[in-house]
Amino acid sequence: MVSSRVNGINESATVSMSNKAAELKEAGKTIYSFGIGEPDFTTPEEIIDYAFKEAKAGKTHYTPSAGIMELRQKIAEKMKRKNGIDATASNVLVTPTKFSLNLALYSLIDPGEEVLLPAPYYVSYPDIIKLNQGKMVTIPTDENYELDFDSLGKYVSPKTRVFMLNNPVNPTGKVYSEKSLRKLSDFIIENNLYLISDEIYEDLVYKGKMFSPGSIEEMKERTVTLSGFSKSYAMTGWRIGYMVAPVDVIKAANKVQQQTLTCAPSISQYGAMKALEDEESVTKMKKEFEKRRNLAVSLLREINDLSFYEPEGAFYIFPSYSIDRPDDAISLDLLEKQNVIVTPGSPFGAEKHFRISYATSEDVIREGIGRIGKYFNGQ
Ligand code: PMP
Repeated sequence: MVSSRVNGINESATVSMSNKAAELKEAGKTIYSFGIGEPDFTTPEEIIDYAFKEAKAGKTHYTPSAGIMELRQKIAEKMKRKNGIDATASNVLVTPTKFSLNLALYSLIDPGEEVLLPAPYYVSYPDIIKLNQGKMVTIPTDENYELDFDSLGKYVSPKTRVFMLNNPVNPTGKVYSEKSLRKLSDFIIENNLYLISDEIYEDLVYKGKMFSPGSIEEMKERTVTLSGFSKSYAMTGWRIGYMVAPVDVIKAANKVQQQTLTCAPSISQYGAMKALEDEESVTKMKKEFEKRRNLAVSLLREINDLSFYEPEGAFYIFPSYSIDRPDDAISLDLLEKQNVIVTPGSPFGAEKHFRISYATSEDVIREGIGRIGKYFNGQ
């Protein structure tokens, strides 16, 4: 009954682990979860209050499909101020971030065209590319997750159209330097490609500095920058983010938005408007994440069998292990034997790894990583 296009895609790896965990919880077990990638904080109160105030005042209707004009303007200002991207409201489409990934590919590629994707990658990318009838071409990275610019050319074919980048990276916590991103931009320009730059973790950078390739003058017409409110403002449930792109891409994506979502939820757009004024909450939550990062890194270092790149951003660590066991079996073992949820590495394009999300309390980090240690030490 189901189309081959949908049959060809997978359920989300993070979601299926949470489903298993829910069963164990129902059976009365305490579960230590490093699974799902979302802040454990509640959305800052003034954002909730403002959104509700607007809703109570009657702002509960459809908005323009590309988003409330004032919000688009505010996002354009933010792009200039924080990302150095020269944008006006006409370059902005308001939409949930994950949907914006779909809209970007829908608007940029024809069936069978190729999308370059460095591995490890965000777990949803391969299926989003497939769903939009593109062909994924993965690019290996080195032990520091850097690209090898001398060999990048061999992945390009006449069908290559898009380079898809996530920075800071889910699942590794890598933050690319401006130097690397400038080299990547040169490669994109030389090969006449487009860049989709998913910057949803842009505010969570603890070491190094955030750089947006869309700020490079020659990249402006080739870059679709995506970001959103989920991670910076603990607003995952509001389903609100945005795309910043050349006007033609925004017009194309807006047509698709009109025939699918119609517009982003109005109440969430008002919440987003308030969020853009609230740098204080971002700074506060970032400090908390950084403390947790430091704790998780120091505890994981004590586990002999694990090695990992010290994350500079986002809220993930991506350890590899040496014992001879596939990563899905390791994740299941950790859940069944130690009541700990991690996400297996293979769906992120890296075997014999697992992902830890440290967007959880220090108590869970201490106990949970202690249990991971027990598992690897054979206790
Ligand atoms: N891109 C990346 C790299 C992500 O990690 C996520 C969320 N896990 C998204 C996009 C989607 O964000 P949202 O839930 O706000 O749509």
